[in-house]
This record gives sequence, structure tokens and C-alpha cells, in this order.
Amino acid sequence: MSNRLSAGDRIASSQTDIARIAEMRNVHTALLYLHNQEMEFRRWQRELTEIPAPPFGEAARGRWLSARFNTLGLADVQSDELGNVFGLFRASDHTPLAGVSAHLDTVFPLGTRLETREEGNRLYGPGISDNAAGVIAVLAVASALRKAQIRPATNIVFIGNVGEEGEGNLRGMRHIFSTAPWKDAIQSLLVIDGAGTDTHVTQALGSRRFEITFRGPGGHSWSDFGTPNPIVLLARALSRFSDGAVPESPRTTFNIGVVHGGTSVNSIPEAATARVDLRSASMQELHRLEERLRECLNEVWSEVPLSFRAGEARVRFTVEPIGDRPAAELPSDSRILQLIRAVDAHLRIKSIPRLASTDANVPLALGKEATTIGAGGDGGGAHTMREWFDCTNRDLGLKRILLCLLGLTGVTE
Ligand SMILES: [Zn+2]
Repeated sequence: MSNRLSAGDRIASSQTDIARIAEMRNVHTALLYLHNQEMEFRRWQRELTEIPAPPFGEAARGRWLSARFNTLGLADVQSDELGNVFGLFRASDHTPLAGVSAHLDTVFPLGTRLETREEGNRLYGPGISDNAAGVIAVLAVASALRKAQIRPATNIVFIGNVGEEGEGNLRGMRHIFSTAPWKDAIQSLLVIDGAGTDTHVTQALGSRRFEITFRGPGGHSWSDFGTPNPIVLLARALSRFSDGAVPESPRTTFNIGVVHGGTSVNSIPEAATARVDLRSASMQELHRLEERLRECLNEVWSEVPLSFRAGEARVRFTVEPIGDRPAAELPSDSRILQLIRAVDAHLRIKSIPRLASTDANVPLALGKEATTIGAGGDGGGAHTMREWFDCTNRDLGLKRILLCLLGLTGVTE
């Protein structure tokens, strides 16, 4: 595509591409399939939701997805050492690769009752939207391509990845984009996460998470009175840090989510620990915030009497990184963004750009084209036992994904 086209021209040209693709006979067949197979998609979604997939325990779900990929006839179905699952839709050798992914993991620890139920168009169950709906969307789209015998002009890799939620810290996606053959081969990635059609992610929310620990000699509350108290030092540092201002734009936030320490009411504790979550749309603000956190810790530590800052059992603190998600932004003239807009216009979907922390952070931070969109339908109660997914008009979301994907790959007539 020529660089001399204006942004308006490029969107118009994407719209022409999408309209042309949507009119092709086999694409029509695929879109119809996505509508007609709803009952089967529900069965898949309930089956998947009932397979446990806590962070670092996604293997059973991975096996389920591999089996489905094989049944669909995807090529080279495989999983890597972390448990990411891949299935190829092969157009020809040596063509660029477009990816569609959904995370397999949930926030629910092993032992959680993963029962599902169905009431009318609503499915209930922990993880049913986030992200069983996403995984089913990936399967549905792969299945529609096969059934309608569509021939994308470039290869597509369908991915079920591990480690998106919480302490998973995007480990699945990080691995994919740091290992051959995927890291260089995948040119663009469409991430499917949760329900809906009303947003598309254009900015990757960055986060840095730390575990902070103050340590000291500890002692008896009465006889060792005067010994610096790690709980007090920690509280003082966190209080100082929390008093600082953060910008509204780019939006930047912090949270102290966990605090623990001490052994009994009449002991001066030997240690106190806190877990802190820093977030920003800008990498620069994120670093600034981290800098301030370290300053506050240092200040508080340097106020401890010198005699307690030397020797074996001296007062000290550590800052341990426990999470790191890069911030990044999708350029406004990127192909994937124009395609989403063109598809949304074609399907009469109103969707708004969103700032979020998703698997798309990883390729975005590498300068690749990626966005995160929903799996259609509607959902709520994410990360709770009351989670639900409403299947009404799910096919609209599935059509959106299929058309966007075919816009990326092109179609051979
Ligand atoms: Zn999710």
C-alpha cells in the first residue's frame, strides 16, 4: 500500500477490501456457518470451562485444544515447553504469518468448583467469558475457514496460550515472541479476550509489580524497645509514596495490594512485606513512579539510626520485581487498526479504542501490529464465581474476527 495515501484514503481502501472479501461466496458460507453452529459452540464452551486451568496449570486445557485443532485438520498441531498450543492453517510455504490467540488460563485456583449451567441464552461458570469465550472464538473461526474451504493468501497460526492472568505475567505470549520460529514469523496478532464487540485495544497498559521487604534484628517488645520496627518502616515508606501525585494523562495509578509481617503482638518483627502494583499508559511515567517508590524506601531507611544500619542483623530493604508488562501504543495508521475500523463499519458495530493490559502488550512492545478484541456476545462477573456469558448475537463477534483476519491475510479466489 502506498505511503502517499492519506489516512482517510487508507481507511477507505480497507473498507473496499473488507466489502470485497465479505462478498466472496465461500466467505459467505463461513459467516453462515458461524451463525448456524451456535449450539455446538455452547457445548464446546461449557466443556472447556469445566477443565481446570489455574495459572501455571493449563496443561489439561492445552490437550483439549490440541485435540480440537487436530479434529479440524489444522497442520503442525504442537505445543511448546510452556504449554502454548499452536495449529497452522497453511496457505503456502514462506508467506507471512498472521496469528489469532486466546489465553487458556483462568484466575481460579485448583480445586475451584468449575460447574457450568445454561439458562436461555446465558451460560454461567467461572471463566466462561474470560477466557473460554475467547478460546471458543479461535476454534470457531478456524473451523469456519476449514468448513467453507476458504484459501487465505498467507499462513495463519491459531494459538491457545498460557499465563495471561495475574502472576502468569504474560509468560505465554512473552515466550512465543522470544522463541523461534514464531518470534520473527508472526507479523500481526489478533488477541481474543473476553466477551463483546464494543472495544478494540489500541494502547497497552504497562505495569510493574514489586514485593518490598524491610528486615531488621527484631526482638522483645519490652526489653528491645527502640529497635527499628520493619512494619513501621514499611508503613512509613508506603505512606510517603502514596502521598505523591500521579498524572491523569497519561493515566497512571498505583496500588498496595498485600501487606504482611510480624509474628506476635509482643515481638518486634524481623520482617515486613508489601506487594505494590504500578500502572501507566506511558513507559516513562511508569519508570518515574518506580523511581519515586525507590526514593521513598531509601529516605525512610536513611532515617534509621546509623548504628542499626550496620552489622549482621542490620536494617535493610529489598525490592523484588514480581511483574512487568510493557506499555505500548498501536500507531494510528497501522493496517490492523484500519481493518478493525473497516470491519466495524461494515458490520455496523460501534466500538471504542481502549487502553488495557492484555497479551497484545507483548507484540505491541516489539513494534508488531496487534490488538485485542472480544469474542462477541456479552459477559460479566469476570474473575468471580458468578461469571456469565450471554450468547445472543455471538456470531456478530465471530464474523468480526473472521473478516478482520481475512483482511490481514487476503483471500485467494
Ligand atoms: Zn482474559
